Amino acid sequence: MDSTQQPSLVDTIISPEWLIPVSINGQKLDKTLVNHSVVIDKGTILDIAPNHEIQQNYQAKEHINLIGQALIPGLVNCHTHAAMSLFKGLADDLPLMLWLQNHIWPAEQQWVNDQFCAAGLQLAMAEMLKSGTTCFNDMYFQPHITAKTAKKYGMRATIGMLMFDFPSVWGSGPEEYLHKGLQLRDDYKHNDLINFAFAPHAPYTVSDAPLKKIATISNELAIPVHMHIHETAQEVKDALKATGKRPLQRLQELDLLTPNLIAVHMTQLQRTEIELLARNGVSIAHCPQSNMKLASGISPIQELLTAGVNIAIGTDGNASNNDLDMFGEMESAAMLGKVFCGSAQACSAYEMLFAATMGGAKALAQDELIGSIEIGKAADLTAINLNTISSQPVYDPISQIVYTAGREQVSYVWINGQLKVREYQLVDFDENELLASAKHWQQKISHSIN
Ligand SMILES: [Zn+2]
Repeated sequence: MDSTQQPSLVDTIISPEWLIPVSINGQKLDKTLVNHSVVIDKGTILDIAPNHEIQQNYQAKEHINLIGQALIPGLVNCHTHAAMSLFKGLADDLPLMLWLQNHIWPAEQQWVNDQFCAAGLQLAMAEMLKSGTTCFNDMYFQPHITAKTAKKYGMRATIGMLMFDFPSVWGSGPEEYLHKGLQLRDDYKHNDLINFAFAPHAPYTVSDAPLKKIATISNELAIPVHMHIHETAQEVKDALKATGKRPLQRLQELDLLTPNLIAVHMTQLQRTEIELLARNGVSIAHCPQSNMKLASGISPIQELLTAGVNIAIGTDGNASNNDLDMFGEMESAAMLGKVFCGSAQACSAYEMLFAATMGGAKALAQDELIGSIEIGKAADLTAINLNTISSQPVYDPISQIVYTAGREQVSYVWINGQLKVREYQLVDFDENELLASAKHWQQKISHSIN
């Protein structure tokens, strides 16, 4: 722009101390920009340039200076069961199948309905927003409530079109689950924050015929498929006993190993399976804390990265983790990856930040829209205050974000250019109401088990 032109009026200018784009044109970018600002207008990133240029060219309705703070793309939580936040801490320190069969499944049978899910989702979304997460990939009952609640609070979400062989509060069986899921997807086709994925729970809860149907529709319409796979050694052992095949082989024969697949957990992988996943462009949703807490196993993330597999990060549900904290997951993913490989160079801070942002966006087929700070992308952004005792001094802000920062350092969050967290406070939620609701449900649920 020449100097005689008037500055353009825009919605927001953000001037962080450190700007971390994470990716450029689909490529990895392990770089931090200093003295740069981001210009947002109508929900989109309009410009990224040195501060003096931005000041010359734009006038903003709001200019936010973030001294001592880093700006990153909004975190993408690639595996949640958000409404389960009301079961947080209900049963802990148990192996997966015992935990599911004796505690979680009975509690779900008794309590899960529309009201439970709405209350659980509000609590979960408030927790995620305060933790810098702008997008979540969910799999749970009552997905119509998940979609409605995410829309109400303006949070970006991929809603799982849930599928089991057996009936539940959401439907009578595979046929109805499929029908209701696709109907819901149709209902939200004009909402740009709400997307859909097929969510067949796991290879051991969904049989071949419905999986084949999902594969056909997913491949035709490029709809993501979100599924727990190879979570534990027992799962693989049981499948081998029942079918003579490892679950991954069965899914390959059903035509599900494609770039649409988001394979959650994947703690049990052979060398040839890693190559198979890479060849077929499958994404992995790595949930290190859930895998550690349930002693499920360790996903070989560095080997997968080296083979070229896209890695995303998820927290899993609040009942198995017990929080929705992507900062904790990034740090755990780095640490666990290093221990597993016996190499301090494995799973670097940058790779884990990439997985928690762009990796998730890619898994959800939304990498054209979110996952990095680039001109033309949606303004889904998270600011982190590094001007704290625990994070100073800062030599490398990416390292500080992964290894020192906690979610309480998240100061601002935007989704589609809308402020969701301002100066550490939720914009659209009443925290006292959320706390009262959580306590109310805890009392109801504890009475029923005691
Ligand atoms: Zn899960």
